[in-house]
Amino acid sequence: MELKNNSYKIQGLKLTDIAHQFGTPVYVYDAEKIVNQLQNLKNAFSNQNVKIKYAAKALTNISVLKLMKKHGAGVDVVSAQESDIALKAGFDPRDILFTPNCISFEEIIEGVEKGLMINIDNISILEQFGHKYRDTVPCCIRLNPHIMAGGNTKISTGHVDSKFGISIYQLPHLLRVVKSNNINVIGLHMHTGSDILDADVFLKMAEILFGIAQDFPNLEFIDFGSGFKVAYKEGDITTNVYDLGVKLGNAFDSFCSSYGRQLEMWFEPGKYLVSEAGLLLVKVNVIKTTPATAFVGVDSGMNHLMRPMMYDSYHEIVNISNPDSIQRVYTVVGYICETDTFGWDRKIHEVREGDILAVKNAGAYGFSMASNYNSRYRPAEVLVYEGKAHLIRERENMEDIIRKQVEIDFE
Ligand SMILES: *Cc1c(COP(=O)(O)O)cnc(C)c1O
Repeated sequence: MELKNNSYKIQGLKLTDIAHQFGTPVYVYDAEKIVNQLQNLKNAFSNQNVKIKYAAKALTNISVLKLMKKHGAGVDVVSAQESDIALKAGFDPRDILFTPNCISFEEIIEGVEKGLMINIDNISILEQFGHKYRDTVPCCIRLNPHIMAGGNTKISTGHVDSKFGISIYQLPHLLRVVKSNNINVIGLHMHTGSDILDADVFLKMAEILFGIAQDFPNLEFIDFGSGFKVAYKEGDITTNVYDLGVKLGNAFDSFCSSYGRQLEMWFEPGKYLVSEAGLLLVKVNVIKTTPATAFVGVDSGMNHLMRPMMYDSYHEIVNISNPDSIQRVYTVVGYICETDTFGWDRKIHEVREGDILAVKNAGAYGFSMASNYNSRYRPAEVLVYEGKAHLIRERENMEDIIRKQVEIDFE
């Protein structure tokens, strides 16, 4: 969003108008920003045969998936249900990478039957896959390089205690299973977490992958996962994708020439594509001043945006109703009967009851992690596309809350 003539806008549309038109709370996504981010990644790796597989779990709305498809992305899914939405959005099954964790072998079979590219992340499943399919179904293998990405074990998936991927220390066992079952491994994959700060971490990971890749003669692609960091507040370090494009691109080229074939380079960004494109617009219900703090209570909470509570993530909060007033310090909290704080001690333009606040960086893991806790409705979602605001999900209502509940008649 940008501040122009004293009002916050997306593609020329006033955000306060969007809030009034669709009601609050409402998620608003800027399609232009999403497409720009996708284009940035493609440009950064334009010397490579690069494939971007959007990590659908970040924001799983079917219209967003269709936007990704329209602009040439594939998709990475983590459940049978996500793959069904991706198929409904029109993705070719071959452009869908299925990267589940700790699911049953039955769900893997379902994925094979739909024609998805299966990414296998443990040896037990790999053995079952090998017994059932031998070399008739190609697959990808998810490795764990044990590189600690970022400082947060809740979002880092590459560390030694992580449940994700097959440990590189089990490589001999892995190779035995592959060879004895004649499994056709056409991709290797690593995804170390969500907080990679610089190109050098990627390069370290890449060197490990390139070494292992020599043991797999049928490779068609290497998937470097994600971990692209976006800015949550001013001064945050972000992943420089152009720097990464040069460094990783060079390393990849020399690997490919020693491997004997130019392979595809895959990435699976979620946050990078959609985080900054999304806002959660909420209305101020009450201002509650205690001797210690000025609380701003809004018509939303951890039921709609879980990240501050779950990850201690920082989301900038802006008063879009009163942009030219003085700033004061507030603590913005939700209406859920839990301590659901959106932000402590934030400098925000003077807040009045009824004002609309914008919570930034809400595009990724916002709506997709929302729940009905406290029997609240999940918000509406709006996509601003080519200067027009499109409703892409209706706000829930009481019917949605009660639909699957079964009443016992105790007469
Ligand atoms: C969640 C996930 C991603 C996306 O991570 P971001 O930090 O949102 O970019 C990519 N790959 C896999 C396998 C994932 O589980």
